[in-house]
Amino acid sequence: MLDPDRTLARTLDRTLATLYIPRCAACDGRVAPTEPLCAVCATTLEPLGVACPRCAEPLAAPLAVTCARCRLDPPPFEALVAPWRYGGELGEALRRMKLSRQPELGRELAPLIAPFLAAAVEAAAIDVIVPVPLHWRRLAGRGFNQAQLLALEARRAADLATPIDSLSLRRIRPTPTQTGLSAAERRANVRRAFAVVPRRRRRLAGRRVLLVDDIATTGATLAAATRALRSAGVAAVVGFVVARAGDAT
Ligand SMILES: [Zn+2]
Ligand SMILES: [Zn+2]
Repeated sequence: MLDPDRTLARTLDRTLATLYIPRCAACDGRVAPTEPLCAVCATTLEPLGVACPRCAEPLAAPLAVTCARCRLDPPPFEALVAPWRYGGELGEALRRMKLSRQPELGRELAPLIAPFLAAAVEAAAIDVIVPVPLHWRRLAGRGFNQAQLLALEARRAADLATPIDSLSLRRIRPTPTQTGLSAAERRANVRRAFAVVPRRRRRLAGRRVLLVDDIATTGATLAAATRALRSAGVAAVVGFVVARAGDAT
């Protein structure tokens, strides 16, 4: 006997597979099925390269120790992992995803993130992945949280079993965009912007957390979120962003 629901589901799956034309996440050009960017846009991809092992600040030459700023004022996270330098067409794709509200770009970009996410989870012995949350008002405006979506899609692409917790960390204060702010202004802007939901503290206590965001510039947002996690008893936080920008001065 045919199950009508399953037959319908299978037909829909097939139809969607036919309709789905793989496209470049930056320019909408045609691409091979598993490629996030077309050949032209892919030439602008820039691996992070030489960087501070603690804050991922791009450096001219490798240092055996952390950068000068991390030595003076170490961030609260153990390390920041960033596979790519922010800019080029990857930057364009991340901007489009957020500002033109194209959540489907999360899935298209996943192959650029998944192997690095899996390596970070393994290297840092991560127990749980926590995306940087948006304030509810911004979430309502945008309809999705890009950090959460990128984490979900990359986790799926990497076939990782590590759980994602999108409910325990909250952004309790709406913060204006960090764009155009100096490093000091960025820190002040996000101070006390995050908190762990009290009744969910036990889920995170003693755990090692990978805190995921799309882009980091000074790391101020990650630092503020890390402080909230640590004050709720999280054992350690490692930051992970898709792309690291050079520092704001
Ligand atoms: Zn392209
Ligand atoms: Zn540093």
